[in-house]
Amino acid sequence: MLDIRIEKTTNPKPIPAPGEPLGFGKIFTDHMFIMNYTEGKGWHDARIVPYQKLELAPAAMVFHYGQEMFEGLKAYHGANGGTFLFRPDMNAKRANDTNRRLCIPEIPIEDFVDAVKAVVKVDEAWIPTDPGTSLYVRPFIIATDEFLGVAPSKTYLFMVILSPSGAYYESGLDPVGIWIEDEYVRAVRGGIGFTKTGGNYVASLAAQVKAHDEGYSQVLWLDGVERRYIEEVGAMNIFFKINGTVVTPMLTGSILPGVTRNSVIELCKDWGIPVEERRISVEELYEAQQNGQLEEVFGTGTAAVISPVGTLRWKDEVMTIQDGGIGELSQKIYDTITGIQLGTLDDPKGWRVEVK
Ligand SMILES: *Cc1c(COP(=O)(O)O)cnc(C)c1O
Repeated sequence: MLDIRIEKTTNPKPIPAPGEPLGFGKIFTDHMFIMNYTEGKGWHDARIVPYQKLELAPAAMVFHYGQEMFEGLKAYHGANGGTFLFRPDMNAKRANDTNRRLCIPEIPIEDFVDAVKAVVKVDEAWIPTDPGTSLYVRPFIIATDEFLGVAPSKTYLFMVILSPSGAYYESGLDPVGIWIEDEYVRAVRGGIGFTKTGGNYVASLAAQVKAHDEGYSQVLWLDGVERRYIEEVGAMNIFFKINGTVVTPMLTGSILPGVTRNSVIELCKDWGIPVEERRISVEELYEAQQNGQLEEVFGTGTAAVISPVGTLRWKDEVMTIQDGGIGELSQKIYDTITGIQLGTLDDPKGWRVEVK
C-alpha cells in the first residue's frame, strides 16, 4: 500500500456547474498526485498537494530529449452512485511497458492504481454529472536531471492530474471522416510506437494539420516501411468489419495496444463474432469497399470509446462506409462498454473498479 501524504488546498477553485461546457483537457481540479524517483532510493515521497506549477531547471532532461511518458483513463459516476474506473490495471501494466522501453523506472502496478484512486477520491466532487461526461485522469512521468547529456535520467517525477471533460458525443455516436496518410509515418517496428509518449504525438502533428486542411478530422497511419499496411488512427486503434469478420491490425510493436481495443476484441469473441488480428493492407481495404464487403469501420479509444468512420480518403479515392452512418456492431459495442462502465449492464469480467 502506497503511503500518501495529503495536503488539501486552502484556496479551492469553483467547480464547473452542471450544464457548463467543459471541452476536453482545459480545466484542472484542485489537487494533483506527485512522487519523486531518485536513483538508489527508488520512488519516494508520494503526496497529494494543491494543483500547482512546477519548478524545473531549463536543462531538465525532459525538455531536450523527450524522456517522458503518459497514460490516459477516465473516472466517472456510476448510474447508481459511486465512482468508478475502467480497467486501471491495464493502464498500469501498459505504463510499465512504456517505462521499460524508455529507460524510465517502473512503478509497481498497485502503487500506480493506488495513486490514481487516491487523487480521484480527493477531487471526487469535480467528477461532472452530465450524461457522457467524465473526469479525465492523466498520469505521467518526466525526466528531471539537470544535464544535457543523452542518457537515462537519474531522477524523475510521477504525477497524476485530473481534468473534468465534456461528453465526446453531444447527441449519440457521430461518424468521422479519416485521411489515410501515405507520405508521413508515425512509427516503425523496433521503435516506440507501442509506447504512450510525447514523441509519437509530435511525429504525428504535420500529418494531422494536413488532414485538417483537407477537411478530415483524423489521420489513419500506414506502416512505416512499406506504407501499405494499416496501423491505427491518431489516438485510436482501428477496426474493420469485412464480410462478417472483425479485422484489426495485429500488435507488431509500432501500434499502441489500446485498453479499448482489447475490450472490443474480448466482447466480439464472447458474442461469437470471428475476430482476426492480422496485417491488413490499404489495397485489401479498398477492394473490400469496392466489392461492398466493407460493412463497418470504427476507431476505439478511452475518450470516444467507439468512433464510427463514415468516410476514408485514400489518395484521390473517397470510400464511404454505411452511407456515412453508424453500423449495428459499432453501436452495440458502444452501448455495451458504456453500459458496463456505468453499471447499467453486468460486468462479468470485473472491468469496473470502484474508487472507495
Ligand atoms: C491511447 C492511445 C490509443 C487508445 O488506447 P486506449 O487505451 O483504448 O485509450 C490508441 N492509439 C494511440 C496512439 C494512443 O496514444
